[in-house]
This record gives sequence, C-alpha cells and structure tokens, in this order.
Amino acid sequence: MKDVHVPRPGETLSDAILQHLKYSLGKDAAHATTTDWRMALSLAIRDRIVDPWFASTRATYAKQGKRVYYLSMEFLIGRLLEDATVNLGLMDEVAEFFDDRSLDARMVMQDEPDAALGNGGLGRLAACFLESMSTVGCPAYGYGIRYEHGLFKQSFEGGRQMEAPEDWLTEAHAWEFERPESSYRIGFGGAVKVLGNRTVWQPEETVLARAYDMPMIGWQGRWANTLRLWSARPETVFDLDRFNAGDYYGAAEPEALARTISRVLYPDDTTEEGKRLRLKQEFFFTAASLRDILRRFEDEYDDWSILPSKVAIQLNDTHPAIAGPELVRLLHDEKGMDFDAAVEAARGCLGYTNHTLLPEALERWSIELMRSLLPRHLQIIERIDAAHAAAHPDRKVVLIGDGDVQMGPIAFTMAHRVNGVSALHTGLMKETVFAELNRLHPNRIVNETNGITPRRWVLAANPRLSGLITEAIGDGWVDDLEELMQLEPMADDAQFRDEYAAAKRANKVDLANYLGQQGLAVDPDAMFDVQIKRIHEYKRQHLNILQTIALWQEIKDDPKGDWVPQVKVFGGKAAPGYVFAKEIIFLINAVAEVINNDPDTSHLLKVAYPANYNVTLAERLIPAAEVSQQISTAGKEASGTGNMKFALNGALTIGTLDGANVEIRELVGADNFFLFGMTAQEVVARRQIDDHAAKAIAEAPRLKRAMDAIASGTFGERFASITENVSGDDYFCVASDFADYWRASRDLEVAYRDQADWTRMAVLNTARSGWFSSDRTIRGYMSDIWGAEALSV
Ligand SMILES: *Cc1c(COP(=O)(O)O)cnc(C)c1O
Repeated sequence: MKDVHVPRPGETLSDAILQHLKYSLGKDAAHATTTDWRMALSLAIRDRIVDPWFASTRATYAKQGKRVYYLSMEFLIGRLLEDATVNLGLMDEVAEFFDDRSLDARMVMQDEPDAALGNGGLGRLAACFLESMSTVGCPAYGYGIRYEHGLFKQSFEGGRQMEAPEDWLTEAHAWEFERPESSYRIGFGGAVKVLGNRTVWQPEETVLARAYDMPMIGWQGRWANTLRLWSARPETVFDLDRFNAGDYYGAAEPEALARTISRVLYPDDTTEEGKRLRLKQEFFFTAASLRDILRRFEDEYDDWSILPSKVAIQLNDTHPAIAGPELVRLLHDEKGMDFDAAVEAARGCLGYTNHTLLPEALERWSIELMRSLLPRHLQIIERIDAAHAAAHPDRKVVLIGDGDVQMGPIAFTMAHRVNGVSALHTGLMKETVFAELNRLHPNRIVNETNGITPRRWVLAANPRLSGLITEAIGDGWVDDLEELMQLEPMADDAQFRDEYAAAKRANKVDLANYLGQQGLAVDPDAMFDVQIKRIHEYKRQHLNILQTIALWQEIKDDPKGDWVPQVKVFGGKAAPGYVFAKEIIFLINAVAEVINNDPDTSHLLKVAYPANYNVTLAERLIPAAEVSQQISTAGKEASGTGNMKFALNGALTIGTLDGANVEIRELVGADNFFLFGMTAQEVVARRQIDDHAAKAIAEAPRLKRAMDAIASGTFGERFASITENVSGDDYFCVASDFADYWRASRDLEVAYRDQADWTRMAVLNTARSGWFSSDRTIRGYMSDIWGAEALSV
C-alpha cells in the first residue's frame, strides 16, 4: 500500500483518520466499509508509531549499547491495532471518533485479521517479549518467518476438527514495511571446497530472504523495537527459456519452490517431524537473521572480538539452534577469525531457552539430511563435538550420535546461558534432559520464569477490571505490575469486592451473548470454568471431560439436588496429524451435544467449545473466566502462560503442581488455589506400578461409570481409543489423578457458593500475580543472560 499521507504536527487523530480514508484509501466517509475505517485508523495510528520508532533506532546507535536479537520460529502476535492504540493512550479518542459516527470502535478493531504465526504458548511468549522489550526500553529485534499461512483455521463438522488454511496476508493490514534493500542469499546443499587456507561452502541451491518489518510499540510509546520477518523469494523469478519453449508451469517452478519455504507454519508445537522443509525453514530464517546482525555490527565496528559485548542472540527453543554452527561458519570461513576464537565469540553471543522436557520435542536431524542440506555445518558440528570431547574426556553426551545430529546438546554447548521457563522446569532440566551437560557446565543453566504482557492481557482485554484497578490504585500498575499488591487490603473491603464482582459479571454477560450468537444459551450466573490451550494428552482435556461426564451423571441421579450451575468452556486446536488429540476434541463435542440437550440437567451444566481458539478468542474468554483449568500431568508443562493470564484476571486455578502453577500457588497463597494430583516425582513412581490405571479405576467408581457410559455409546461413537488408553497404559495418569481431581472440583463448588469469599480470593489472585509480568521476565533475561541495558529516548 502506498502511504501518501504525511501527518502534520498538531494534526488531531480524528483529522488523520479522515485524511487517510480519503487520500490513502480513496474512500468517501459516506461509503466507507468497516475495513476501510479499520485501515484508515490503522494508518493514522501507524503514523504515530513511526517517530518513536525512528527515535529508538537513533538512540540505540548513539549509545552504542548492546542489542538483543530474539530468534523465534513463531510469533503469535494476534491483532496489533488495539495493542498499539492502548499503548499510545489513544483508546478514548478513538472510541469518541467512532461514537460520533455511530460506529463501534471495538467492532472496527475486530475487523483486523488475527496474525497467528505460531502454534501456542511458545509463540505467544515471543509476542509478549517483543512488547515488553519495547516497554522496558531494551534495544531489540525479533526475527522470524513471514509465513503466508499461519496456524490453520479450525471449525467443527459433526464434532470433528476441520482445518482450513489461514490467510492473514490476503486481508488488508497496515503493519508491515517491505524492505527490498534488506535481502540475503541463503544457500542449501552443494559442496565444501578448500581454497588455500580457506574453507568455502559452495551451495547448490539459493533462495533470497527478503525482510518485512513491523514496529512494536511499548507502553506510552516511549520506545519501539522491530519485528523483522523473512519471506523466501526465488533468485530468478522465472525461467524465460522454459517459458519461451512453451513450458509455462516449468518456468514458474523456481518461484514456487523458493516460496515453499515461507509458505506455512508447521502445525505442531511439540513433535518435530524429520522433514527437510522444516530444517530448511529453520536454517533460512536463522541464516538471514545472522547475516543481518553481522551487517549491522560491521556498520559500526571493525573488531570481531568485541561481538559478544555488542550482540546478544536468544534462541527460542532449538528451532534456531543451527545459529551456533552458522555463526562459527560466518566468523571463521567468511570473516577469517580463528576457529576456536569464532566458537568462543559465538558462545558469548548465544543464549538458549529450553521449552519442554518431552523427549520427542528435542530436535534431531539425520546425519544424511544435514550433510545433504548443510554440509559445512556438519563439519563444524563435528569439530565442535571433538573439541568438547577433548575438553571433557569423561563426557557421555555427544552432539552427533545414534545416526542423528542432536540439536538440544548443540544449542546447550554453543550457548553461554541455557534457561528453563519456570522454577520447576529448570530444576527438572538439571536432573533429566541436561543432567550430564549441567555437570560439565555448572552455572550455565538459569531460570527465567515466563510472563505475560499486562498491556494486552489486562489493560486491553479487560477494560472493566483495568478501570476498577486504576480507580483504586492509579495507573502505575500498567508498567509496574507488582503495584497490584496495593489491592490486597481491598480484598476485605465489601464495596470494592462488589465492584470487582460486577466487572466480572459484566464480562460473563458479554461472553454469554457471544456464545448465544453461536447458538448456545448459557446462564451468566453459572460458574464459568475454562480450559483453553492446545489439545494434547499431557494437558489432559480428557481428564476434564471425564470429570464433566461423571458430574452430569450425578446431577441426573438427583436433578433436584443443590447443585452449583456451571458452564464448562473448552478451546483449543489439535495438530492435524495428532489423531488422539483429535479424538479428544470429537469426544468433548459429542458430550456437549448430549449434555446441552438434556432437559433434566441443561439448566445446571453446559459444555461450550467455541471453535478456532486463537489470541482474539483468548482475549474474550479469559476476562469472563472464574475457574482456570491447569491440570497437566505434573512434570510435563514447562511453564504455561495461560495460567498467568487467568490468575491476573481473577480466575481461581484448579491445578497440579506443574510448571509455573507452583509459583502461582506460592504467590497467591495455597488457600486461594485449588491443588490436586500427584507431584512430578509421584507420577514417575506411579508409572512403575503394574496396572496403575486399572487399579485407580477400581478405586474410583465415578470414573468407571463415566468410562462405561462412553463405551456403551451414550455419546454416539464409543471412543475406544480414549477409554482403552485411560484404562490401559495411561502414560499421562488420567485415571490415577481422577479421584483427587473430582475432590478438588467439588471443593471449588463449595467455595463458589460463598460469593463474598470467592471474590475475596479472586481479588487476592489479581493482587498477588503482578510478578508474572513479562517486563519482569525480560529484565531477568537482560541481567542474567544478555548483559543488556535499558535505553530511553
Ligand atoms: C496464552 C496462550 C497460549 C498458551 O496457553 P497455555 O495454557 O500456557 O498452554 C496458547 N494459545 C494462545 C492463543 C494463548 O493466548
């Protein structure tokens, strides 16, 4: 889009919107569509970001400070317009502008496509980090891939998940600036030649990586960083010889092949398929980012040995772990640095964040694949491996073993700091996946518990609660979230509690209306219980639905009983190839169909499963939630961030001692958290018991009855794969945790009956969760890992 409008000093936002509508979009206000208004608003807001953006860049150059580069395969950014408007403090002005024209500002903002360039928590964390790095004034770039198609769109057909391609780029949006001048040639395959005393990689195939920049504005527009996404292009657009010979398809082939690299997001966040394309994607964006980083360094300095004092590169999981070998290759082969010095310099720059202990999620690539795509990197990895072996003769860990190149150990050995994402996870990392490397490199592993940005997840998503908080304690909490502590005494103030409860109820009414529009009537006075996250066995949505079935059966036994009416809300996508997870979705929808239409119970229990869970839906559901389901098998959820969003928004957690749940419980207080289930150690011990699931089912008649109902066809299909899994191997210990989960669920209901006390606990959750701001997490990375200083303009 050509932006022909130049904002004049002193021009009002209102004028700017109208000018853009007319001159940038060529539309008359009388005939403008919602999308026209949204684009005009976006361009007007964008104009106001550009100056702070440039000022931040200038300040960074002037201070010659250290820059942070955050490399991530995923950025689950969602919509940006509301975020930017809120951060610039322009929300009221925008609302007024649209009010005056009988339009709804929120509706205009909701017209924006949700950029789902990520699968779940890992990608959302990267997006929160970008916002926080700008808010705290940390000079930083995010680097990732400009996927043409983000995470698929989910719908349900007969209760089963359907997947359609997501196409955020085909809809108008205002946030990216194409940078044709920032293009790099990225190679694959080919041969390694020794020319004199230099080793040179001569790739066989090359594609161009072209940069697209998005400004990321921090709170109050004080600082703005850049998210730079790479798009793959062919070096030659098409083959004229083949075209002239009449081979029209063949002529377009180079273009199609190159573009494949940035075509789609891999639709899974835990299992890695050994696909050539995936490795190509990883190398493509990592190599382009490193070239860009070194180019920027070279513009300012001429001494490679100071690289680690100017450059910090964070690897979000092992996906960009090829950065270690590639940086060594660039410094040694291309810049002429001594090999060992290049390894030291690379290590001085690199940090690695581990996100999971699930062994199938630690990436490894076959030696053959690595040799065919990245022959020089394989040599470099071998040399680093040999040096590591020489330095540690008693080591057992290898970088290349079992026929595979092991990306976890490579990331670990090439990073000066390795971090886990919650206290529990970091401890388990030291004891399990990286026990050996931790012994060889003590003090390399540090913990940085995840966080979330309060601007998006409280201020923008929950205006009612935000307004109440600001009225009570001022607005300092927005960028100093621990100020929420000042709310603590108000938990005992009946009037404050009433206002807090009224805000929650109004959010519930909004959600009830939304669900109503989708055809499901729910009572806004029922308890709203929410489990939203990727569908995965370890997250145990099947434990939740089994408990729901058992509850339904008890209500049916005694429909006149004194029950707490509740709405069980589920949300989440399953990876398209993950058959068991898709079966769980089918079961939840099948159970919903029966329960929601049962005249004996439907006023007491409803199951809602709105399709296509994404950031936008999360922003709708979380402010209305009263119960937060965080029920993963202990030891499996590295941190979670959904759990933090809920606690801040005043939902009480029912959860296991897993990930950051542990820290949430410590901070909000054990009395304000509904704990159940085995600890990570107990889970490991439990699995050693023969028939642990069968034994648990024998001791839990309610579970048996729920499973029997499924098996007898109460919900249509019989879902044998699920019942057989839970009663058989049951690796995720659904059966063994069921009885205690049932108990905790009933405790929740008892607590919910005392609304004053419930609200007191909710207020305490909000007041005591301020530590989970991603500003705190970023400051931790800056001091413990990056050695970077905050700047301001
Ligand atoms: C926060 C968030 C997640 C992560 O949720 P967990 O419960 O921590 O797994 C995933 N997807 C979206 C859209 C989110 O906003």
